[in-house]
Amino acid sequence: MEILTVHQKGKSQIKSKNRLKIFKLILSSGGISRIELGKSLHLSAASVTRAVEELVRAGLVYEEKKEITFVGRRPVLLNIRKNSCYSMGIHISRRSISLCIHNLLEEVVYEAKDSIGGVEYAVDLLRVLHQMMNRALEKSGISKEKIVSVGLAVRGIVNRQRGTVIYSEQTQEIIPIVESVKSLFDSAVFLENNIDVDLKSAYSQEFPHTDELVYVFADEGISGGMISGRQVIRGRNNMAAQFAHLLVEENGRLCSCGQKGHLQPYLAKSAIEAEYQSQSGQTGVNLVQICDRADQGEEIARAVLHTALEKLAAAMAQVIVLFNPGVIVLCGDIFEHYPDGVPFLRDTVAARVPIPPLLNFDWRVRIRREIRPERNVAKLALEYLLEQ
Ligand SMILES: [Zn+2]
Repeated sequence: MEILTVHQKGKSQIKSKNRLKIFKLILSSGGISRIELGKSLHLSAASVTRAVEELVRAGLVYEEKKEITFVGRRPVLLNIRKNSCYSMGIHISRRSISLCIHNLLEEVVYEAKDSIGGVEYAVDLLRVLHQMMNRALEKSGISKEKIVSVGLAVRGIVNRQRGTVIYSEQTQEIIPIVESVKSLFDSAVFLENNIDVDLKSAYSQEFPHTDELVYVFADEGISGGMISGRQVIRGRNNMAAQFAHLLVEENGRLCSCGQKGHLQPYLAKSAIEAEYQSQSGQTGVNLVQICDRADQGEEIARAVLHTALEKLAAAMAQVIVLFNPGVIVLCGDIFEHYPDGVPFLRDTVAARVPIPPLLNFDWRVRIRREIRPERNVAKLALEYLLEQ
């Protein structure tokens, strides 16, 4: 949307920046007068009036009804039209693409989820993505000009500067995903790794006062993230916090990277399930069921889970010594469905790092179903647009 774009040069740059600032303040205020706008933003009455007029004409802002009270006329309040524009959020994981559209008040107006199991190549992934985006526009009845920002939360190695992602370890294709989305939408496109999207929202919602945060996500793969001083630690090639490849046992099990003894072949869902099968002789028992059995006191199930958690403790001990975190957030079935898991992990880590100041942090479990990266990234994308 032209009115929310910042011009790159000259006088119109300042004007467009001020207009965006005014829009942002009206949005966050929930009703504000022109005078208050001018005061808060240190802008002249004339520039406020002009920018507001433009926003009203574009249909983004309206004037609330004038009220006359016994103390005299109340100044006219300006408010946003919540359905004047929208942000689209898309989460691309290994198994599915989830898409949502929300309005300026973050109310979800459209949601969809498509399974994409087995998709490896860029051309296939982008085709499914475009189909979903087009269907979203069609079904929601929202014109694409009204989508002012698109947020992409994608698994794999994200390069935000280039707008690319390496989605598949198998093909190693570098996918120009931002360019591809921009071919459909003339809007701000925000790209982030899906774990980092969750890390950012976990951080801002739940731990706003913690400077150092570690996030471990354990599912089929093991991934993670770290925040320090309010910034996500990305690393030179966006590959920081690859906890999967921390060494946890000399000459241990073979990792997908070719090296022996890394965390991945101990903590991955399929690894735990395979271990349970070999120890119990029972086939087809999934991780959640193993957790339930362990919780009911079954010895084999407990032993299998504790082996996996011991390896995680070995990995976390290294992270704690290097990073001195304030919170370690854990997400995955083993933490969610096995209540003794986190206390066991805490004790095992404490035995490995007998240095009290390093152990002075919280363990938290993040509930999987409450994580909605598509919604969080829609929000981040709108913030990104308004931060220009
Ligand atoms: Zn490895």
